[in-house]
Amino acid sequence: MSPSRSIALMGATGSIGTQTLEVLRREPNAFQLVSISGGTNVHELSVIAKEFNVRHIGVSNEQSATALRDLVGPDVQIEVGSKGLEVLSSSADIVVNAVMGFAGLPVTMAALSAGKRLALANKESLIAAAPLVEKVRQTPGAVILPIDSEHCAIHQALASSTSQKPYPDVRKIILTASGGPFRGWSKDRLAVVTKADALAHPTWSMGPKITIDSSTLMNKGLEVLEASALFGVEVDRVDVVVHPQSVVHSMVEYIDGSVIAQLSMPDMRLPIAYCLGLPGRLDHAWGKLDFTSGLELTFEAPDRSAFPALDLAYSAARHGGAAPAWLSAANEICVEAFLQGMITWQSIVQTVSSVMDKYVPTDISSIDELLENDAKARQLASAIIAK
Ligand code: NDP
Ligand code: MG
Repeated sequence: MSPSRSIALMGATGSIGTQTLEVLRREPNAFQLVSISGGTNVHELSVIAKEFNVRHIGVSNEQSATALRDLVGPDVQIEVGSKGLEVLSSSADIVVNAVMGFAGLPVTMAALSAGKRLALANKESLIAAAPLVEKVRQTPGAVILPIDSEHCAIHQALASSTSQKPYPDVRKIILTASGGPFRGWSKDRLAVVTKADALAHPTWSMGPKITIDSSTLMNKGLEVLEASALFGVEVDRVDVVVHPQSVVHSMVEYIDGSVIAQLSMPDMRLPIAYCLGLPGRLDHAWGKLDFTSGLELTFEAPDRSAFPALDLAYSAARHGGAAPAWLSAANEICVEAFLQGMITWQSIVQTVSSVMDKYVPTDISSIDELLENDAKARQLASAIIAK
């Protein structure tokens, strides 16, 4: 039997985090969970720590650290904030980044700098920091495996390539999108959607931020940027097609016309298990398909006029530099404002678009420059919202 591999699970209390725990429960001999982190949900962290005998935990602030200390006792080492995430993310064989939003940046950077396998759900860090990530992923041993289902599908489909990054034998990467809860809706109808409408995703159950991003198609826009950064393929070779059943998770079209796709029922445990299991596959058929039960697969073009987030993302990709970081940061502020009831659903992307109108081409060559740009885009978005 091969030796057990150690796992650091950052964002353990969230949607991807808890599904990763389900995978780990099935494979107690293959993996050992050695560290976990969360934001402020210390009760949940203490429950996970007890079940998996974890002795190293990260939380986002001192107050949570004090509350956690009361729950777990003196034998557990507690880390705080982004520095804590860095410590935790450089100390396991496989680091799962399931933190929500730009707060996941220290995990991505520290895991790759330490030459670890990064099982990446947190697309925001890769998108914002793409030029910096490109450097640290050259560290010997460092590798990014995508948990995001579309990118996990592409990773599998690219195994058919006979070339290397940037894959000259690939004509197109075709990302599938469910279309979200508002597929087919007119602009007028979209003007009055509620928070409950936007949180009701038809095929996936996910954390609130990505669920809202899916309703605006900003998630797909971010995934275009993610695919380009991950696979080194320029965005003009990344297409989006709406596929409401979420069974075909994405496709690669080769120059000879062959299209290689990965199919399964929508179940995030499959891509999580893939990223943990490589170089082998784990023997659990999560998302198994039944081809005899009237399975229907349909495809249509996205409505780019009703869902302008998609073209905003392409535009940010063509700008390069700090533009993707601005897009993602402004979007985080707007989604939070929408969830707080401060702005309408349509204002999310309108506000992001107004922020992007103010973008001045800027390169990112250090973390400090990235943090400055992130803060600037957040400030601009907050100022527009406050008006
Ligand atoms: P959730 O909101 O469900 O979970 C987020 C996790 O991050 C929680 O553990 C939360 O802790 C922690 N967290 C939140 N804010 C901070 C912070 N400031 N510092 C440290 N930790 C923090 O999100 P999801 O699991 O849905 O998504 C996580 C990532 O995975 C996102 O980047 C998303 O885009 C990506 N993803 C998710 C998919 C899904 O199916 N859910 C699919 C594909 C990608 P606490 O509970 O204490 O707040
Ligand atoms: Mg996805």
